[in-house]
Amino acid sequence: TRLRILERGVEASVNGVLIADAGEPDLPIIYANDAFQRMTGYTREEIIGRNCRFLQGAETDTAAVEQVRQQLARQCEVHVTLCNYRKDGTPFWNDLYIAPVRDEEGQVTHYVGIQHDISEHKAYEARLAHHASHDALTGLANRALLEDRLVHDFELARRQGHLLAVLFVDLDEFKPINDSLGHAIGDQLLLGVSQRLSAAMRAGDTLARLGGDEFVVLLPDLHNEEQALQVAERLLALIARPYRVGEHELSLSCSIGIAVSSAEVSQPNELIQQADMAMYRAKQQGRNAYYWFTPEITHRLGDRVALRNELQEAIDVQAFELHYQPLIDRQGRVVGVEALLRWPNPLRGYVSPAQFIPLAEETGQIIPISEWVLRRACHDLRMLDGAGQGLLNVAVNLSPLQFHRSSFLGNLRQTLAVTGLPAPKLSLELTEGVLMNDTESAIDTLHALREMGVGVAIDDFGTGFSSLSYLKNLPIDTVKIDRSFVSEVTRNAEDAAIIQGIISMAHHLGLMVVAEGIEHEEQHRLLMAHGCDLFQGFHLARPMPLERLIEFLEESRSVSLGE
Ligand code: C2E
Ligand code: CA
Ligand code: CA
Repeated sequence: TRLRILERGVEASVNGVLIADAGEPDLPIIYANDAFQRMTGYTREEIIGRNCRFLQGAETDTAAVEQVRQQLARQCEVHVTLCNYRKDGTPFWNDLYIAPVRDEEGQVTHYVGIQHDISEHKAYEARLAHHASHDALTGLANRALLEDRLVHDFELARRQGHLLAVLFVDLDEFKPINDSLGHAIGDQLLLGVSQRLSAAMRAGDTLARLGGDEFVVLLPDLHNEEQALQVAERLLALIARPYRVGEHELSLSCSIGIAVSSAEVSQPNELIQQADMAMYRAKQQGRNAYYWFTPEITHRLGDRVALRNELQEAIDVQAFELHYQPLIDRQGRVVGVEALLRWPNPLRGYVSPAQFIPLAEETGQIIPISEWVLRRACHDLRMLDGAGQGLLNVAVNLSPLQFHRSSFLGNLRQTLAVTGLPAPKLSLELTEGVLMNDTESAIDTLHALREMGVGVAIDDFGTGFSSLSYLKNLPIDTVKIDRSFVSEVTRNAEDAAIIQGIISMAHHLGLMVVAEGIEHEEQHRLLMAHGCDLFQGFHLARPMPLERLIEFLEESRSVSLGE
């Protein structure tokens, strides 16, 4: 009975079980269970009497087979994982355990082999290894694999006396597309880009995605630098062809930074940093361009990288301040303030927004900064009201990136609700550029703002390309004449005429006109004579912290009471 139960157990096992006769020289199989037949595709009749080496094949690890042979010669147990082949030729991973069976005298009479098909497990491991080295969206190499290849290519190039070129490729207008059309479209676009880039690679080249819209190309074994340029030119042209994603026809360009191995470069990673810096330079040159790394730009751009990091720290600890510059009406009353961002930096002092806002725009850091500014400004103005200063208007500068984001209106509504500032007390300052590209959705957003009651001013008016007749169709309510005209108004008859023209046409269109950058009494007087509505500038009041603004408001009120 016991024997029958054991036999039944072996029969029913999901593991393959084989028994070989140790008394015969070639260890012939005398038993195989059903699971073995299912696993290998052989019938019992086909294998009884044979040595089990028929399971081996081309990919079978000879070292593992040798290990089995030696252990069996010593009559010991053995455990190995090796590649075996089914009858139909397909390989599988066999986790094999072989144990000797001894008689009463201790003589080995049989070997029992138990095998477990772990192919699925192996495939899973392989997939894991692939994920660890490849980008999930595009299937391209990721940063880890790139660094491996870089080290390898770098060594090889050095030994063979070839050049290794690193191309840092960054898409130019990807962020706004991704923000306005959504991530699904953005992903499709990235896939399209990666397919085009892949198609341009030769055997031995490496193409990696570093995340976001950044790609890196390694070109090993170049004979001259010219070849790297040719590739960069080809890639620029490839990327610039239009993309079709769903019903959208999209176009993109990219900026490419190039660095090439040389005697001065001792660490392979330096090449990536150099190519990255050169890429920034390409962006500054107006995009859709490539730029060659030179040591001379290390300095200037190293600064940028440092600034970017410091900016991130400032965001994390909310190290910004908001200052307010009063806007004065024709009667000399303060009717509003413009919120201006200040960044007190422990090393650099107060960093001008003109210096860090463009950088923050490129890195996307502008988003958290802008959200902070908006919240702070609304909150401060409510605070002023609570402190008995009345509810002033507040103008907040908007970044293009912020304006084009799909979450912009939602965030704005929420900020107003949370802070309790009435929408008509808020005015948003946009530059013409914001409205020029992607006009349609921009106009939709402007209409939504008007419905909410939020004011919109066109900032730096006169420096862009828009004409007043173009503004006629937009739901805006204020234009701010750019400082550069104001500073010339008393000296340059042409600028004075332009200002006069702007003011009278704006009034025809029902728009308010603000002159900013008034530094002298004479400018103030002239602009007043031309009919300007509101005045802003150092001559009237400088941007100041909130506490100082309270004092300023009190002083200016007592002055006008005294009159
Ligand atoms: P903007 O919007 O044209 O702001 C007015 C700038 O003119 C401010 O410079 C202000 O300090 C300066 N200003 C005011 N009166 C005079 C004057 O009489 N003479 C001269 N020479 N300058 C005067 P600031 O604060 O350095 O800001 C520079 C630019 O940075 C701003 O130009 C604006 O485009 C941007 N910015 C400032 N704060 C923010 C913000 O919170 N968000 C965004 N997105 N941009 C901001
Ligand atoms: Ca402004
Ligand atoms: Ca301005």
